[in-house]
Amino acid sequence: MIFTKEKIEEFNTLLANAKKVVITAHKSPDGDSIGSSLALYHYITKEHYNVAICHPDMAPNFLHWMLGSDQVIAHQEREAEVVRLMDEADLIFCLDYNSSGRIGRMDDLLSKSDAKKIMIDHHRDPAADFVDLMFSDPQTCSTAQLIFELMEARNDLDKIDRETSEAIYTGIITDTGSFRFSSVTPKTHEIAAHLIGKGLDHAPIHENLFTTTENRMKLTSFALLEKLVVVPEMQAAYISLTQAEQKRFDAQKGDTEGLVNQALSLEGVKMAVFFKESDGIIKISFRSIAAIPVNDLARNNFHGGGHRNASGGKYVGKMADAIEKFVTILPNFVEENKLHFE
Ligand code: 5GP
Ligand code: MN
Repeated sequence: MIFTKEKIEEFNTLLANAKKVVITAHKSPDGDSIGSSLALYHYITKEHYNVAICHPDMAPNFLHWMLGSDQVIAHQEREAEVVRLMDEADLIFCLDYNSSGRIGRMDDLLSKSDAKKIMIDHHRDPAADFVDLMFSDPQTCSTAQLIFELMEARNDLDKIDRETSEAIYTGIITDTGSFRFSSVTPKTHEIAAHLIGKGLDHAPIHENLFTTTENRMKLTSFALLEKLVVVPEMQAAYISLTQAEQKRFDAQKGDTEGLVNQALSLEGVKMAVFFKESDGIIKISFRSIAAIPVNDLARNNFHGGGHRNASGGKYVGKMADAIEKFVTILPNFVEENKLHFE
């Protein structure tokens, strides 16, 4: 239990003393960073705080239906406003990220700010040095679940309204592959049961999250048909998409989300990788099952990190060279983790 009585008291004091609050979350928003941000926003605005949500960049289209998503101010689009809000804030929430490097160019604004900082996050190996109060639990499936637990610890479950409920549910769904990942616990289901019991209409949320566009469907089909490479002897598979290939299908932000998981779902495949070219760098997503630590692979070779089963990194250079580097280190990685590949 990370929401101890002492830490909740500390939380209450920080919140009570704050005049201006800013909620931040990691760059390249996903359902959990947006879900936890909106859930916290809907929750604490009920206590009449001056609250803004400042993210490094905008959420992909498939999340725009969320109530309150128009409140998110993206640094990439409205830089001056974000600079001012971060400067004036006396309390900043750091949601769904464990080190200040995960908020891109907002990193600078965060470190310059005199505001008190509260982290609520579920990534491994959190850096404690940039926050004043840390609620970190790598065992929890999503930051959205932690927002629910925070409300529970403050005896505020009666303050969960439709907006808050949808936001929490969305964060949980997107970070657990719809309740499939091993991070799901009885508590996760209890939270879903509580939300649905209080009237949450869950089916439209799944529809909103998982309907797709023609272009996206064709991009996915192309990637699976033409770009999927399976390395059976390594129990690995990878997919790559160059910028030109993405352009061919008019790929929008978020359109390649989940592609790597499709590669991972192949029979006999225990780790999957997705290489995506964007403006001179190759962004790499790693996924694995069981105890295979792809975060080590990302950290040691591709300037990245993340969770054991879901991590990411980057390669500066050409697509072919990024893939070559991965294929070259793969046998060693498999050998080092032989136990988990059996
Ligand atoms: P995705 O593949 O969805 O972009 O990222 C999966 C997870 O990997 C993220 O939730 C995050 O924990 C981690 N991750 C992705 N990119 C990076 C990166 O560049 N650096 C670090 N440290 N972690 C990353
Ligand atoms: Mn998350």
